Amino acid sequence: MKNNTILKTERLHAHYILDVYGKAKVIKAVNDVDLAIQENEIYGIAGESGCGKSTLLKALAAAVEPPLRIISGRVTYRIAGAEVDVSTLTQEEKRRLRMEYIAYVPQGSMSVLNPVARIRDTYRDFIESHISVHQKSEAFALAKEHLSELGLPVKILDAYPHQLSGGMRQRVTIALATLLKPRIIIGDEPTTALDVVVQRGVVQLLKDVQAKLRNTIVLVTHDMGVHANIADRVGIMYAGKIVEEAPTEKIFSTPAHPYTHYLINSLPKFGDKSPRESVPGSPPSLANLPAGCPFHPRCPHVMDICKQEMPGFTQVASNHKVACWLVGEGTHGKAA
Ligand code: SF4
Repeated sequence: MKNNTILKTERLHAHYILDVYGKAKVIKAVNDVDLAIQENEIYGIAGESGCGKSTLLKALAAAVEPPLRIISGRVTYRIAGAEVDVSTLTQEEKRRLRMEYIAYVPQGSMSVLNPVARIRDTYRDFIESHISVHQKSEAFALAKEHLSELGLPVKILDAYPHQLSGGMRQRVTIALATLLKPRIIIGDEPTTALDVVVQRGVVQLLKDVQAKLRNTIVLVTHDMGVHANIADRVGIMYAGKIVEEAPTEKIFSTPAHPYTHYLINSLPKFGDKSPRESVPGSPPSLANLPAGCPFHPRCPHVMDICKQEMPGFTQVASNHKVACWLVGEGTHGKAA
């Protein structure tokens, strides 16, 4: 593990094994994923719904539970200078890892905020369950200090969740998740269902938190506009696999994978009223992936070899790699 790599996956395969009327059904949600996420970076994971992004986050957050299983490969953290393989941890150690080291920001704030409790009570419960405080007033003071540091109005502590806007609820959720200054924040579509202006405020808060804590954010969203705004590097995920990875600027200026081209071309452009290009066809079922490159049934450049073999990664530039036969044969082997 490089010195500044804080979280790594190696040839990670994570599948759901379901029992459907006595027959095993396998959903191949994460397939052969290699990531090396650095300290003090914002790493974005992009792709359509159902491509395995959220499952990958579960594996990264050491939150894999049946029916999801790690089939092969591993997830490694660097904690206090030591490399820790998640598969060697007990359930209790994984729980402590999630409490002390990683913060998870989910898509909907209502899964975190209690609808019948004031924000101050949710804060107090969170603080009391994570650190020892002797009095309620101590927890309240800590909550106020934290909200002020993030530039959020402390009066929201007196509100019930339904009295806040969707954007403010999401900001409160982020504030709560970052109270204990986690080294890694994992965000699963934290801006989905918010309008563009509100989304900007939530993205800005995430940026501010990262700049202040100098920690790492792994952010999943299908919205390429959010990645353009916030991510240092982006991994493009398709059918459970990262098919392209590069610094954000390169992903947008010189995308190499046909799927990435579509994702970028589907973005609205200021002043351009022509219809945007969307990805043709539908994403494949993770229970029944096509042979070879899983994008081949939708790809305008498909060749015979694409239908038979998955290309390995080719390094097209510094920090820019892509898995596509158009670019080269790759060096990673023929990934399943
Ligand atoms: Fe298209 Fe072939 Fe590249 Fe897959 S490997 S994206 S099918 S050209």
